[in-house]
Amino acid sequence: MTMKSKNSSISLVVAGALGRMGAEVVKSIAMASDCQLVGAVDTTPGKEGLDVGIELGLGPMGVSLTSDLEACLCMASQQVRDLGPGQGSVLVDFTHPSVVYEHTRAAIAYGVHPVIGTTGLSSDQLKDLSVFAEKACIGSAVIPNFSIGMVLLQQAAAAAASFYDHAELTELHHNQKADAPSGTCIKTAEIIEDLGKSFNHSDVKEEESLSCSRGGLRESGLRLHSIRLPGLVAHQEVMFGSNGETYTLRHDTIDRSAYMPGVLIAVRKVRNLEGLVYGLERLI
Ligand code: NAD
Repeated sequence: MTMKSKNSSISLVVAGALGRMGAEVVKSIAMASDCQLVGAVDTTPGKEGLDVGIELGLGPMGVSLTSDLEACLCMASQQVRDLGPGQGSVLVDFTHPSVVYEHTRAAIAYGVHPVIGTTGLSSDQLKDLSVFAEKACIGSAVIPNFSIGMVLLQQAAAAAASFYDHAELTELHHNQKADAPSGTCIKTAEIIEDLGKSFNHSDVKEEESLSCSRGGLRESGLRLHSIRLPGLVAHQEVMFGSNGETYTLRHDTIDRSAYMPGVLIAVRKVRNLEGLVYGLERLI
């Protein structure tokens, strides 16, 4: 692995570096000429002090794994302290919902720009982080889905919704996913609902002989369906119906590398943001 010049690069700390997403991020940083990995944090037992590149099969990267996020943030902020505005370090976090709020707050407190992929922040936590980021003047990004294709699907769904009164949403994921429906599917529903109309008025009285057969019903009338199977990664379908036609939008994430262009966009833009930005659609 060739070392890149630190002064011309964005200095990055990756939290969750040994996880499925974190490992992809480390790999992308290693290949990006304008990015420099300066810290790798992970709590996997027995990995303290080991070279993250070697652990991920990328060859030596000269960055040791640590479980101490704060020490890593402190080091990263000191390294770029004198480089001036828009030059701070960046934390990319793909860890666990139980720690993401503390990680984001700590990054802002240390003057490190957070790019947060970990899901699970509540709307109150988001509001609190938004106020904190603005007070601290630290550009921050919370991106619940880094897929550019998903942003395009949501934009197309919003455009189609004004022409259709009937729509159903289906999200399909691997069977290790604990929550349903997915946050991204809920977001798609919310984007469609921004039009302020209701959907799926029915002339018949529907009855389910097996409960939940018709999916989850939202106040707007939209119905959400969740499928969990091994073999799936992350997929979403929005199906509109009208007399004599259906219109189906579908997005398939086949591999986690699909998220990396979105991650790099956020990494390259976050230092120049004012306050906290939520959602990739605000960055592209
Ligand atoms: P994973 O379990 O494979 O990886 C998480 C890693 O974080 C593990 O290596 C674990 O040891 C480490 N970790 C846990 N707690 C930690 C802590 N306190 N400090 C440092 N490291 C810690 O999970 P994953 O599939 O990589 O997903 C991680 C998160 O990213 C989840 O919340 C998931 O929903 C989210 N995710 C977001 C997107 C997106 O586009 N925003 C895409 C996929 C997954």
